[in-house]
Amino acid sequence: MVIGAGYAGLSCAIAVAQAGRSALVLDAMRVGEGASGRNAGLCSGRAGISKMIDLEAHVGRDRAAAILDEADDAFAFFRSTCDDVSPGAYEHTGRFVAARTALAYSKLAKKYREYEGVSTGGVPAAGFELVEAAGVGRFITTDVFHGGMSVEDAGLVHPARYVHGLLARAEALGVTVCTGVRVRAVDAAGPERSLDVATSDGFRTVHAAEIVLATNGYTDTSAPWHRSRIVPMSSSIIATEDLGRDRVEALLPAMTTVIDTNRVIVYARPAPGGESILFGGRAKFHPVSPDTSAKILHDQMLQVFPSLAGVQVTNAWSGYMAFTKDWLPKIGRHNGLHYALGCNGGSGVVLLSWLGRKIGQQVVGDGDGRSSLEDIPFPRQPLGRWTSAGVPLAGIWYRTRDAIDARR
Ligand SMILES: Cc1cc2nc3c(=O)[nH]c(=O)nc-3n(C[C@H](O)[C@H](O)[C@H](O)COP(=O)(O)OP(=O)(O)OC[C@H]3O[C@@H](n4cnc5c(N)ncnc54)[C@H](O)[C@@H]3O)c2cc1C
Repeated sequence: MVIGAGYAGLSCAIAVAQAGRSALVLDAMRVGEGASGRNAGLCSGRAGISKMIDLEAHVGRDRAAAILDEADDAFAFFRSTCDDVSPGAYEHTGRFVAARTALAYSKLAKKYREYEGVSTGGVPAAGFELVEAAGVGRFITTDVFHGGMSVEDAGLVHPARYVHGLLARAEALGVTVCTGVRVRAVDAAGPERSLDVATSDGFRTVHAAEIVLATNGYTDTSAPWHRSRIVPMSSSIIATEDLGRDRVEALLPAMTTVIDTNRVIVYARPAPGGESILFGGRAKFHPVSPDTSAKILHDQMLQVFPSLAGVQVTNAWSGYMAFTKDWLPKIGRHNGLHYALGCNGGSGVVLLSWLGRKIGQQVVGDGDGRSSLEDIPFPRQPLGRWTSAGVPLAGIWYRTRDAIDARR
């Protein structure tokens, strides 16, 4: 039994079904209505996993190398799966990580050396290029960045096409997916594992051999241990009106995503088809109306692209992702309940597909389900249980640290 019908839950169910076992996926909303159907579609391997932390200092040199290699494996797996279940949904465009400050540029240079050294034993890691401020214009037409790093092995996916491709594959393998079913309580500790669920027909108890939690930023009090270890952060995107490909290309000459280095990130990418721009970031960390998030993101977009003053925003939407205390995704089992959660934005498309599959393999006893991300502590988030007050406080904390970095 899998709770959550996003990339993680569906990938888990597919792995279970491929092993010849039955799988049932429950979701309180519609398939992909969580983050999996509404994200920005940025995908990569190692460049996505350790942006904000010194991985080697956190987990040691050998584990850091294994995690970076696993992130590359995850990206290769994602690409082949996506090509298989949703042909044409993925484009290999590369990515430019743009330094907001001089300090951020020096940290990027250190990260570049980490990619070079940790995993490859000193052999330069292919596909990364440090770009000084004078070269930023190859990727984005603005003067707000202090250089950056070009990542060749990265791309963009159409998120909803990918999640519906996974759904179709799961159903073809015999997986049952039930939407509109909210899990209210989980008892996975004993031999008789069960869930209390609410449906439009009322309440009932469902029994299962194994239970997997794949609820990420939508994790609620039905899993209190996990809920207290993540902060659900709101993330938002706006779409400009049709600008025409020439104007988009004038602003984003490489027609790739540009993502900045702030903790409270912003990013710009050409929309599918290349005629308009999607601009995303953390407008507010707690839920706000699309009008409010659109206004905040519009202001941020004009700081980067002043020439877009007067351009209309035609669409705005938001969703939740899960932040862990150490910024690493988590996979494991607690009190009998398997889980794959985390990713802190920016890497969940690839990594939660991968970790969902790993958890499915673990459930069926397949040794390939082991992950270098297992057994890393999953500490409580000091703010995790303050659902209404803690999330804005976390946002203020991250914004303050970005502002301090900008003054250094
Ligand atoms: C605006 C935005 C932009 C993003 N951009 C990127 C990006 O460019 N690149 C990237 O890699 N990542 C990005 N992310 C993050 C990425 O989308 C997520 O990490 C990923 O989709 C999480 O997948 P998931 O399957 O774990 O969870 P989700 O897709 O969030 O699914 C969780 C599901 O669990 C269900 N659920 C929760 N509780 C219960 C319950 N009690 N009972 C039943 N069902 C329950 C929910 O209804 C939901 O459908 C972005 C996220 C957002 C919101």
